[in-house]
Amino acid sequence: MHSLVNFKFRRLLILLSISLPIYAQAKPISNLPINELGKIPIITYHKIGETDTEYSRSREGFRKDLIYFIENKFHFLSLDEFTSGNIQAPKGSIPILLTFDDSSISQFEMDKNGKILPTSGIGIIESLKKKYPYFKPKGVFFVTPGAKSPNDLFGQKEFKKAKLDYLLANGYDIENHTLWHANLKKYSSKIEEQIVQCEQFVQKFLPNHKMTSLALPFGIYPNESERPRLLKGSYKGQSYKNINIFDYSNRFSFVPEHKDFDAMHIRRIHANEAGIKRMLVEIQKPGIAFVSDGNPSTITIPKSSLGLLRKKSINKKILSY
Ligand SMILES: [Zn+2]
Repeated sequence: MHSLVNFKFRRLLILLSISLPIYAQAKPISNLPINELGKIPIITYHKIGETDTEYSRSREGFRKDLIYFIENKFHFLSLDEFTSGNIQAPKGSIPILLTFDDSSISQFEMDKNGKILPTSGIGIIESLKKKYPYFKPKGVFFVTPGAKSPNDLFGQKEFKKAKLDYLLANGYDIENHTLWHANLKKYSSKIEEQIVQCEQFVQKFLPNHKMTSLALPFGIYPNESERPRLLKGSYKGQSYKNINIFDYSNRFSFVPEHKDFDAMHIRRIHANEAGIKRMLVEIQKPGIAFVSDGNPSTITIPKSSLGLLRKKSINKKILSY
């Protein structure tokens, strides 16, 4: 009898754990040791839509992701903060970099009067800013302005400039995902053209806007010998320099001070339901995440991590414990 009850109880637990949403399982994050050579989640959203699929996060899921990050005091990074290593995260917080690929209307939609629709990604973020006044959202939009509508710089021809202005004014970054989402292995002859024309399209609306980062469409790299062309080149007289190349390998990113950081392969996590779920389990294991010491001019790490510092000079004081 006793074992039958146990059996039933265990079955109930299993059923519950299958049907519970991911946030009922993800524990709040607390008391992770300071570790400034830990890894950073750079997470990649595509469509923000009705349902959860590989390339779509449901609106409700997106909202819950953000609430989890806000309530657990994650620090939202700007691109510059990440690449400069000058991270302004409060003590004990985990930095996170949000990225949004493919510039679809689902990420940013306006009504006919130019008001942000609350159902779009930016609309959801705006509503959370009201609910959590200390929430300072940042993130990178990797755009494909020459793609088919509605991935052509958020659809809505009449509002393209207003949307780009809004993004810059609100602290977001607008970066390169090629003109029309080209597989740069297949179209390696067009690397320069795809990079320059993406930037030029955005410059029609923001004449002084320079792009310095590229997220590879499909996460696909051209052959090794072609890769330097991702970093530097020119097309019809317009030149470019990319300091960061982002992949889509579903792994946590190293920080620039880590010896294994590679600006040609900056790792990003899939921000679909499964990717977020896995990330939230991983991040709570001690020693995985970057946890800030609250002081941008020092790098605080466990003694056992001293060998992981990059060799080149670092303009910061190293504190080990
Ligand atoms: Zn893409």
